[in-house]
Amino acid sequence: MASATAISRKPLRHASLSGSNEAEESCAIFKLSVLASSSSGNSTLVATDSTRLLVDAGLSRKETFERLNAIGVEPETLTAILITHEHSDHIAGLQAIAKKLDIPIYVSRMTAPAIPWPENFIPKLESFAAGSSFPIGDIDVTSFTIPHDAVDPVGYTFRSQGIKIAIATDLGYMPDSVRVHLRGSDVLLLESNHDLDMLKVGPYPWSIKQRIMGRMGHLSNEVACAFIQDDLESTTSTLILGHLSAQNNHPAIVEQCARQALEGRSLFTRLVIAEPKVPTETFVY
Ligand SMILES: [Zn+2]
Ligand SMILES: [Zn+2]
Repeated sequence: MASATAISRKPLRHASLSGSNEAEESCAIFKLSVLASSSSGNSTLVATDSTRLLVDAGLSRKETFERLNAIGVEPETLTAILITHEHSDHIAGLQAIAKKLDIPIYVSRMTAPAIPWPENFIPKLESFAAGSSFPIGDIDVTSFTIPHDAVDPVGYTFRSQGIKIAIATDLGYMPDSVRVHLRGSDVLLLESNHDLDMLKVGPYPWSIKQRIMGRMGHLSNEVACAFIQDDLESTTSTLILGHLSAQNNHPAIVEQCARQALEGRSLFTRLVIAEPKVPTETFVY
């Protein structure tokens, strides 16, 4: 994990959700922790005091529950699961988690039938049209279509008490429609998947390289950093870069690229590189 100079537009605290610090807990409004982010598994917690959402379930049930417990959240208190798309790094643990918790699973309309379920289990699916908005508890959720080679993939923004969290990973490029949805974010989890040079000389077959580099593939460091340079707003006090490829990227490269882009903007955004094996700290607004 890496962090740049940290000055937030709004008071930003980093605390456990366990209530170990009651003074902080009692006035906390909106919280986020990336439990895991990489090409091999993705899952993020977005929570208020009364609503706890798991965005994607790409880790096993055991691993997901362990990481939730590590940040002070009892898995049984989750309100719902939201899925971005059906690729295994986003749903590998979904069946087992859903069977254990039996909570609503929000999924875009065409993605729903693309997710396999065991015959003896009927999930509580809440399907929505990609691009639609809906409330879950005291969190207003907006989905938006992303360019990626899945059936009906979406990113999400979450608003509560005047704070906006945005999640945009797994996108082949950055269309204007996505830029619009990321505007005004206080916290942004953005993909920085691969270094183009590493990908080109790396071990993947050419067909896979073409897929990753294509407009329905994954966002490169170069495109992510161009976004930081050209479009990141001063409202975004925390920028989390994630979904790094283990084969075709390195956190140090991502950090260097992003720091340079941030320095060029004279922004005071906190920079965090999400990791595959440990949760980020919990960002509390
Ligand atoms: Zn994907
Ligand atoms: Zn993915």
